[in-house]
Amino acid sequence: MAQHPFMDRPAWKMLIGGAFVSGSGSTSLPVTNPATGEVLGEAPAAGQADVDAAVTAARDAYRSWRWIQPEKRAAMLFEIAERIRRHHDELVDLETWENGKPRVQSARDVTNAERTFRFYAGATDKFYGQAVLDAPGEMRKIVYEPYGVVAVIIPWNWPPMHTADFGALALATGNTVVLKPAPETPLSSLRIAELAADVLPPGVLNVIPGGVDTGVQLVAHPGIDFIAFTGSDRTGEKILAAAATRILPTMMELGGKNASIIFPDADLDKAVQGMVRSAFFNSGQACSGSERVLVHQDVYKAFLERFTSAVAGLVVGDGFDERSIVGPMVSRRQQEKVREALERATAEGACIPAQAPLPTEGRYTGGFWIPPTVVTEAAPDATIMTEEVFGPVAGILPFSDEDEAVRIANAVDYGLTAGVWTRDLGTAHRMASRIEAGVVAVNRVNTGELGLPFGGYKRSGVGRKKDFTEAMRSFSRVKAIQMNFED
Ligand code: NAD
Repeated sequence: MAQHPFMDRPAWKMLIGGAFVSGSGSTSLPVTNPATGEVLGEAPAAGQADVDAAVTAARDAYRSWRWIQPEKRAAMLFEIAERIRRHHDELVDLETWENGKPRVQSARDVTNAERTFRFYAGATDKFYGQAVLDAPGEMRKIVYEPYGVVAVIIPWNWPPMHTADFGALALATGNTVVLKPAPETPLSSLRIAELAADVLPPGVLNVIPGGVDTGVQLVAHPGIDFIAFTGSDRTGEKILAAAATRILPTMMELGGKNASIIFPDADLDKAVQGMVRSAFFNSGQACSGSERVLVHQDVYKAFLERFTSAVAGLVVGDGFDERSIVGPMVSRRQQEKVREALERATAEGACIPAQAPLPTEGRYTGGFWIPPTVVTEAAPDATIMTEEVFGPVAGILPFSDEDEAVRIANAVDYGLTAGVWTRDLGTAHRMASRIEAGVVAVNRVNTGELGLPFGGYKRSGVGRKKDFTEAMRSFSRVKAIQMNFED
């Protein structure tokens, strides 16, 4: 049986200035098991005084952190990666407890967090600018400098990986960090903070859980120099508006309404498998997943038959049950949001030809379940086909030719990822060029590979993460230096 996250351990505390503290917040965060709805325990919620203390600690720590030799910073990040590796199983259980996802998916997430710390550890001492000797006595230099204190605000869908994505990147580029996890999933980030606390100098990494209020206070704090946000575009708008008043630079990783396009020459079995994975992985709570599947009219019927049968056979269940392929929604709020989206879809004329069965055991009646669902007969401009659901819902649309597919794919406000399934090289290259998205996968599911820049077009965001050049530069400011050495 997996270790209960509140038993046989001291109370969960936030990390501020190298110390674990209970926090000054008047409220706490109930941590819920999404499979049953049972409250497992309480995590601390940061109040204004904690936000102030965390930002002050990060500012103080920045003065020396930014000048620590890159090799030394790299060694610390490698050590954090190593500790995540050593505590892999424990972190996997923790994520399944608080997020509900199947353990095998939590394991991928924890491994990704470890790899991300390793990746940016390796990048730390290989990131430098340029110097040009123009003439004897004349030199030009371009240098990359950290911003200072980075506020990192993350969602609940991949908590260890989000902690690493911006946390490790900010530290690698010489910034210090105040990280606010989502109120639904504070424990994964707090556990990584516990593992990292005595590796890093005090104040370099601060982790302060909390909800919207804590996020608002953090973003508004005058001691913040850069905001790295992952979440919905609606929240992104608010954060950008707050940042605008101080001309603060930001990185925005926002929502998507991603389309995958299946041409008649595609390997249909492979495409069906890929779409099941893309739409239902992480219970559909994946910014990179395909909520829209565009299928050429010649293979629409064949695709739909195979897809609906695959979806109806998906095993939905407790993340700790090894048979489960799809877990519950993370929260009651997310469950209701997805339920409302489906009700609206059918009210607007859509059909639901297939759903997977839900667990029937009594202990799961209070869980946040939504069945994996196939939606058809919705117009391309129906709400279900244009607004992000962030749940296990795949909308299937027919198309007649390449132009129509491009038109439908691009006719949404988002542009995060896209998929193309074809054996024709020309079609693959043309589609990859014509689709407005930051990431395009051909004949495979996009998996957010480390080393490739990840980020969105349009309302899906600004800036890139997961790679070396774009991400490291995004978290750095550029200085041009002109020098003259002549007497
Ligand atoms: P959300 O925007 O509601 O919340 C995200 C985080 O922002 C949470 O920590 C929340 O407490 C905080 N927050 C909320 N309001 C705030 C405010 N006014 N000021 C400061 N902080 C605030 O998003 P969510 O529902 O938790 O997450 C789902 C969304 O995240 C989806 O839209 C999904 O597409 C997106 N997402 C994007 C990526 C990506 O890399 N592009 C990855 C994962 C999730």
